Amino acid sequence: MIDHNDTALAKRAQLVVPGGMYGHMNARSFSATLPQYMASGDGCRITDTDGNTYLDFMCGWGPVVLGHRNPVVQQAVTEQLAKGDCLNGAAPVMVELAELLVDTVAHADWAMLAKNGTDATTACVTIARAATGRRKVLVAHGAYHGAVPWCTPVTAGVTREDRAHLDYFEYNDLDSLRGAVDRAGDDLAAVIVCPFRHDVHRDQELADPLFATGLRELCDRTGAALILDDVRCGFRLDLAGSWEPLGVRPDLSAWSKAIANGYALAAVTGTDAMREAAGSIYATGSFWFSAVSMAAALATIRELRDTDAMQRMVDSGHRLRDGLAAQARAHGFEVVQTGPVQMPLLRFAGDDDFSQTRLWCDEAGARGVYLHPYHNWFLSAAHTAADIDDALDRTDGAFAALARR
Ligand SMILES: *Cc1c(COP(=O)(O)O)cnc(C)c1O
Repeated sequence: MIDHNDTALAKRAQLVVPGGMYGHMNARSFSATLPQYMASGDGCRITDTDGNTYLDFMCGWGPVVLGHRNPVVQQAVTEQLAKGDCLNGAAPVMVELAELLVDTVAHADWAMLAKNGTDATTACVTIARAATGRRKVLVAHGAYHGAVPWCTPVTAGVTREDRAHLDYFEYNDLDSLRGAVDRAGDDLAAVIVCPFRHDVHRDQELADPLFATGLRELCDRTGAALILDDVRCGFRLDLAGSWEPLGVRPDLSAWSKAIANGYALAAVTGTDAMREAAGSIYATGSFWFSAVSMAAALATIRELRDTDAMQRMVDSGHRLRDGLAAQARAHGFEVVQTGPVQMPLLRFAGDDDFSQTRLWCDEAGARGVYLHPYHNWFLSAAHTAADIDDALDRTDGAFAALARR
């Protein structure tokens, strides 16, 4: 609930932060009831600056996959912090983590580390161009690949030249992809795609297996690199890579978000064919070699691999989806639930401008459930059946409130 401390912080921020808050974190842009500031997190719950606690279904917008302050990750972080974080050379954990990524990710023969997803997607595009000596990169309409001029969804401050060598196709539409491949001719460096269509402001859409295999064939035939942007899905759907269940392996993958359970880390993985090009680009950043987030990633990936964490997310996701479907029916609403259950989204049927969905999310927010009306939610391994039932008790109240309106 927006309350005293939150309002005071927002007022102070208006004076010293452009727009008070920028980017996706601007709570006022998607909710009338959720606070802007958060004080702490524990498992699948977060607490705001006024002491209100929420069942968290955004998980830091993706990074938190084992739960807030997971003890195993916190232990690894504490141990690395005691030795040092930002040194004049990388710490040994860098090699350990690269080895773990190569062991875990099916297509990976090597790994490079960075900080943000945008670093990783941008490096993939640069590596693909270096490897092929070509310029054109194909992007799906509406897909999010980061917040720099070549890919940001908001074009303020962006020039046409920043995107001179991009062309676009429709996700899951092979004919549209073939058209873009033809237009690029012998200048096609890469095609970049997300594992499924998780664009904001629309129902989520799983990848058509025929689209994925067709894309792989087109890349093989033209010598272009297939880049999988696994920044949002990676380490939540399938540890070996999100298209592994489809049997389609990319040449390059971009990872971030869930890779280190909330610590700042991104990775690029690639095949041997891309190794020389990856070594040829200039890739670095002030904090790219900090050891703490690498130690966090090692602990996170091992925990995901060695426990039933991945299955728990699936089970909790089904429990949530089934519960919401039953509640909607009981209250006389028709809802559309899309995407993998670990990354769900709910929209009221026919609610094309998301206004009704937004009201429902506002009612849920007022009852201590943190949901988003038009960006996919995230489950974590810390969500137990009891937590889902707790959330469902509250969402039932949200449906009831909406039915009364
Ligand atoms: C979040 C995201 C990015 C950008 O990652 P940042 O860490 O925000 O730079 C890129 N691609 C996808 C699919 C994402 O969800």
